Amino acid sequence: MKQVYDASKFVHVQDINISKETAKLLETASQVYSQNHSGRTWYGRCIFLSWYCSLGDCTFCFRTTQKHKIQHPKGSKRSMGSVLLEALFCRLFKWRIEFLTGGYGIMPFPQLLEFSKNISAVYGEKIWLNLGVLSENHLEQLRPYVKGICGSMETLHPTLHDEVCPSKPIAPYDKMFSNLNGFKKSIAVIVGLGDTIEDMKYLFDFVEKHSLDRVTIYALKPVPGLEFKEGPSVDYYVQWIARLRIRFPQLEIIAGTNLRRSEEVGYLMKAGASAITKFPATKQFGTKKSHLVTSLIEKDRFFISNLTELPDINWDKEINALDISEEYKQEMKDKLGPYLAKFNNPKDSDKSL
Ligand code: SF4
Repeated sequence: MKQVYDASKFVHVQDINISKETAKLLETASQVYSQNHSGRTWYGRCIFLSWYCSLGDCTFCFRTTQKHKIQHPKGSKRSMGSVLLEALFCRLFKWRIEFLTGGYGIMPFPQLLEFSKNISAVYGEKIWLNLGVLSENHLEQLRPYVKGICGSMETLHPTLHDEVCPSKPIAPYDKMFSNLNGFKKSIAVIVGLGDTIEDMKYLFDFVEKHSLDRVTIYALKPVPGLEFKEGPSVDYYVQWIARLRIRFPQLEIIAGTNLRRSEEVGYLMKAGASAITKFPATKQFGTKKSHLVTSLIEKDRFFISNLTELPDINWDKEINALDISEEYKQEMKDKLGPYLAKFNNPKDSDKSL
């Protein structure tokens, strides 16, 4: 979308330019949010199982770059101990697991099942999965550990989708969502792939058609070496969130941010987001950025997640009490040291992650 800057249409607030039209939308979205939600706001954490993807050709995705493909070849995945430790941080720091994810073809199904089972045991409740299109048979096996399924649709605009995700058609997801009995449903979309505000109608139709419980919405993050050179303006991004909130008052809307975009978190709240995600919380725990994000959310909301203060935790006791194998407990203990060193010694960085 080509955005033309017209100074007369903008008001300047906290170093972020928001158009008068958007300011009005934010006001309405804030009202709709407060009439339909409690104000309890959280940080949602995506847990990655791997950085490999067998498709690897979506035009915006970091997994498409040659450098990434060399660094993360087929078969590369995270260890169980490191993934389970992240799930434990989620429980103890009150981060909600947004979903368990990874690229396509990361591991055989029995391993995915084993990860899902152990993560849900450590987290203490059923989790969400975002692992592509799952068969009915696999879904049934996952059901004891999984409460919801997310599909990364990226964009619902049919021709734009074919351009940016040539090997990931919409139709199989559409079919899966039509048969997801007993699971909660959500999708993830990216703003800034060439869409316009009018294109939101495709998103609205999909949310309506499948009675989605949640939408996770990200601002495009350009990847060096790929075709997209910049992400959407704050003004345009928050318009998507605000319009989605106004159209679907009850929907859970999770808005993505990152290190560079964290100044705009207050606007994500005003637009009616239920929670934030994609903030690099383990790398940034206790840093100025974490404090900034926390204070921006707390201006309007009750923030239940902890990004800043390391509580007094007996880690051995917590890990020993988990209902997982002794081998995985030991792996978690082996991985803990570097994380605690980082949490106890936060380092501010201006680099985006
Ligand atoms: S399917 Fe997902 S992980 Fe794989 S290239 Fe596309 S966007 Fe990236």
